[in-house]
Amino acid sequence: MSSRLYFDYNATTPLAPSVREALWVVLRDDMKNPSSVHAEGRQAKKIMEESREKFAREMDCLPDEIVFTGGATEANNAVFESVWETRPADRNKIVTTLIEHDSVVKPLERLQKKGAVVETVTVNRQGEIDLAEFRSKIDSGTLLVSVMAANNETGVLFPIQKLSAIAHEQGAIFHTDAACAVGKTAVYFGEIDADFLTLAAHKFYGPKGVGALLVQKRAKFKPVFLGGLQETGYRAGTENLACIVGMAAALSFSTAGLDEENHRLCRLRKRLKERLWHIDPSVVFHENQSAQLPGTLNAAFSGLSGQTLLANLDLEGVAASHGSACQSGSLEISRILLAMGIPGEEVASSIRLSFGRMTTEEEVNGLLEIMKRVIGRMRN
Ligand code: PLP
Repeated sequence: MSSRLYFDYNATTPLAPSVREALWVVLRDDMKNPSSVHAEGRQAKKIMEESREKFAREMDCLPDEIVFTGGATEANNAVFESVWETRPADRNKIVTTLIEHDSVVKPLERLQKKGAVVETVTVNRQGEIDLAEFRSKIDSGTLLVSVMAANNETGVLFPIQKLSAIAHEQGAIFHTDAACAVGKTAVYFGEIDADFLTLAAHKFYGPKGVGALLVQKRAKFKPVFLGGLQETGYRAGTENLACIVGMAAALSFSTAGLDEENHRLCRLRKRLKERLWHIDPSVVFHENQSAQLPGTLNAAFSGLSGQTLLANLDLEGVAASHGSACQSGSLEISRILLAMGIPGEEVASSIRLSFGRMTTEEEVNGLLEIMKRVIGRMRN
C-alpha cells in the first residue's frame, strides 16, 4: 500500500510516529488500571494525568475541564443529552447550522422529538454564516447554540469566538464541534470561551476511537455514562489509557510549528488548484478564501460523476473521498454542499482532497499526474 497516495486526511489522518511510540510504550509496559490504588494503578494514573496536563496546556484549558471520550460522536451526543436534561424551564430553543456533522444533527433530531425547538442558520456559497441572521435567531428562550469550528467537507472555518460571545449575550450555552479544527488551526478553549468543545484524536494524527469533551468549569454537566467515578464522575468506565496518552502526543505533534506547516499546505493547495485548472478548466472550488483550512480542497468537475472519478482514482492508487465519505461510507450526494446553495449537478460532480503533515510535493505531483490521466479518460 506504500505506493498509494493518501488524500483523505479529513476522514482520518495517518498516525504520527511519535504517537505510535507513545501508544507502544503503554502497551509494551502493560500499564494497569488508573483507578487501582496499588502501585501499578498509581503509575498508570500518573501517566494519564501527565497526558491530561500536557493536553490542557496545548488547548488552554484546565486539566479538570477535560473529559476523555471515545471520540467526537460520543462527545457531541453527551453535550446535547446533558444540556437538555439540565435545562431551565424557560429555555427550549437550540440554534445550529445546516452544515453540521451527523453526530450533531441526529442527536438534535432526537431532542426535537422530546420538545426542543431546533432552528438552523443558513450558509452562503462560501459556506459562511450570516451574522445578522445568526443573531436574530438567538433570544432569551435559547438554551444552546452549537456551531462547528471547521467544516469537514469544505474546510471552511467559522468565527467561533464571535459566535460564542453572541450566544452568551442572550444567556445561551455555546458548544462547538471542533473535530475538524483542532491540530489544523489554532484552537484555544480559553480564548473561544465556549461552554463545551468537542474533538477527536484521529483528526490530528492520533489514534481512532478516542477524543475529548472540554467542559467549562462554570458549565453544568450531567453524565450520560454511569457506573464509575472516572473523569471526575463525568464519564464512567475504565479509561483507554494508551489512546489517551497517544492523543496527548498527537496534539503536541500537530500543534508544533503549526503556522509554518500551514504556510506549506497553502503552497501545496495553491499548486493543486492552479494545476487542476490547467487539467480541467471547468473545475470549480467550494471554499472560503478568507477563512479556509489549507489542507482541504473541495472541487467540482463539470459533467463528471464525482463517485466515478473517485472510483477511478482509487483504482489508480489515490485515496480521496467525496464530501460525506467520513460518515459511514455514505455515497449520497453532499447535503453540506447543497446547503451552500450549490446546484445538485455540481454537488454530484464534487470530490474532496484533504492532506496534511505527511503530504509531500512529490505526492501532490503524483496526484496531479493521475488526475490528468483519469479526467482525460473520463472526458473522452
Ligand atoms: N464531527 C466532525 C466535524 C467530524 O468531521 C467527525 C468525523 O467523522 C465527527 C464529528 C465524528 O468523529 P468520530 O467518528 O471520530 O466520532
